[in-house]
Amino acid sequence: MGPCLSTQNPSTDAPAPPSYAAKAGSGAPAPSPSPLTDRSNARDAARAIDPAPRLPRRPAVTSSSAEVLFFPDPAMPCRATMRGQQCRRGAQCEYAHQPTNLTRLLDVLNSATKTLDVCVFTITCNEIADAIVAASQTRGVDVRVITDDDQADAKGSDVGAIEAAGIPTRKDAAKTHMHHKFAIVDGTTLANGSFNRTRQAVLGNQENVVVTKGDPALVAAFAEEFERMWVAFGRR
Ligand SMILES: [Zn+2]
Repeated sequence: MGPCLSTQNPSTDAPAPPSYAAKAGSGAPAPSPSPLTDRSNARDAARAIDPAPRLPRRPAVTSSSAEVLFFPDPAMPCRATMRGQQCRRGAQCEYAHQPTNLTRLLDVLNSATKTLDVCVFTITCNEIADAIVAASQTRGVDVRVITDDDQADAKGSDVGAIEAAGIPTRKDAAKTHMHHKFAIVDGTTLANGSFNRTRQAVLGNQENVVVTKGDPALVAAFAEEFERMWVAFGRR
């Protein structure tokens, strides 16, 4: 697989930013709605103040060692640099020769020696798909992938290539989405956050990934959820 080709120009795929201009700084304050004549506004206001109660959560977990990666990156990583070679193009090369958030995340995936459980909504970034395949085929890591069925069939998805590499892959097969984005490396390191494995997420979006090590309770919670989905999606 070559560089990420699915979204050559991230800007064309990027949704237009929401416009707040009409509301912000428009001068005189808006008249207060009458509670008797505008009940929908009152309901909206009540929701904003008093959101629906949340389901019970597990006891709080604490992280002992966390690294936070914030995207977007300034550029995709140079392939020569990723291979540990000197880039012959030098200053002419438009790709990054210094570590980026993506290469840091790739380092985490590449550190897997035993197991790699990847659970992600979308995978179209070939650098990441290559790392997932290499873990299985080059290092013999026991890799599993859970993803969203709609996204897996979408144009540019690398899920087919991952499956073709013999990596067990399961999908939610539902109208709703398997929207998680996390990975568990060797049962000890967790990488989770908003970041989808796409080129647009690397170069265009405001995204985060938190890489946590040495927090068994946190990793166990995600591992348990991975196993729950793995079993559930295997029945379909
Ligand atoms: Zn280069």
